[in-house]
Amino acid sequence: MIAMRKFMIGLLVGMSCWVSPLWAQDKGSVGISMPTLASQRWVVEGLAMTRYLDKLGYRPDLQFANDDVALQISQLEGMLKKGVKALVIGAIDGTQLAPILKKAADQHVKIISYDRLLRGSVHVDYYATFDNFQVGVLQATDIVKRLKIAPGKGPFRIELFGGSADDNNAFFFYDGAMSILKPYLDRGQLVIGSGQTGMDNVATLRWSGSLAKTRMANILGRHYGKQHLDAVLSPYDGMSIEIIAALKNAGYGPGGFPMPVVTGQDAEMASVRSIIRNEQASTIFKDTRNLAEVTATMVDAVLTGKKPKINDEKTYNNGEKIVPAFLLPPVTVDLSNWRALLVDTGYYKANQFR
Ligand code: BGC
Repeated sequence: MIAMRKFMIGLLVGMSCWVSPLWAQDKGSVGISMPTLASQRWVVEGLAMTRYLDKLGYRPDLQFANDDVALQISQLEGMLKKGVKALVIGAIDGTQLAPILKKAADQHVKIISYDRLLRGSVHVDYYATFDNFQVGVLQATDIVKRLKIAPGKGPFRIELFGGSADDNNAFFFYDGAMSILKPYLDRGQLVIGSGQTGMDNVATLRWSGSLAKTRMANILGRHYGKQHLDAVLSPYDGMSIEIIAALKNAGYGPGGFPMPVVTGQDAEMASVRSIIRNEQASTIFKDTRNLAEVTATMVDAVLTGKKPKINDEKTYNNGEKIVPAFLLPPVTVDLSNWRALLVDTGYYKANQFR
């Protein structure tokens, strides 16, 4: 974690160049507000977006809010004071930004909801994200496939983890997964040993790995004992790694009980390494380079009076309006395809896995 932080800080120090020089063609400045530095994806795509916006003639202002809602709001205030023309916002808590969005709209600033839906405000112009329901579908499909649940087989024991309840995506991931798991649960082929189900009971505030680890340890202590846990639905790699740590402490893994199928999301380096070690079963890769490009293009379209490309006008109701969206496809990564999807495409370098 400390090494990761150092790496991120290094990147950001090197990044001061991205509050970029005035270009020959200066189309104005664009604020990019990312939720956190603690997870690789937001840093990689934040930097990618600055490059795309730069190329399009904008001055990007990229800031990270340390998973602190008040800090995110004050960073957005600062961007508005500097006179940004558009804001791209990956919210920490998608429900708490309505007042600042209103202020931005009053200043004719365009708002793009980035990856996570901004809720409770009409002042959201567009949404760029992945097919979040499908993320959950892919995670659960991987569990069903690896457990080889044929008709009449089971019961297999599973535990469910959800993401942060202040992030709209967490519900889409959970609902997508349950759309696959529910028939098996209903037939008793899958059994939740702890009985804990529903986002009210399985959500994990701020996607915290340490909360997930504690919950996993408690569940194993209270509900398992000699019974084997066969699968864990985990929505995010940062949680999966900690869930695996709790499982190892309880005797799962090499030389012990077989590791359950543990899912994940984001293809974070630590999880890809874990997949290579045969611990985490899979992760979901969302090519955030593409999301960054789609978003930069969207920003350019709204600021030049064009209609951005969208492919979904029904799914994302934020409580005040249906936000027109562009959804990108997620894919499952496991031992069979990680190199082709992550190294051959240049997302990671081969030597990072030696
Ligand atoms: C993102 C996921 C990520 C999670 C935790 C979600 O909103 O869509 O990619 O795993 O937040 O950062």
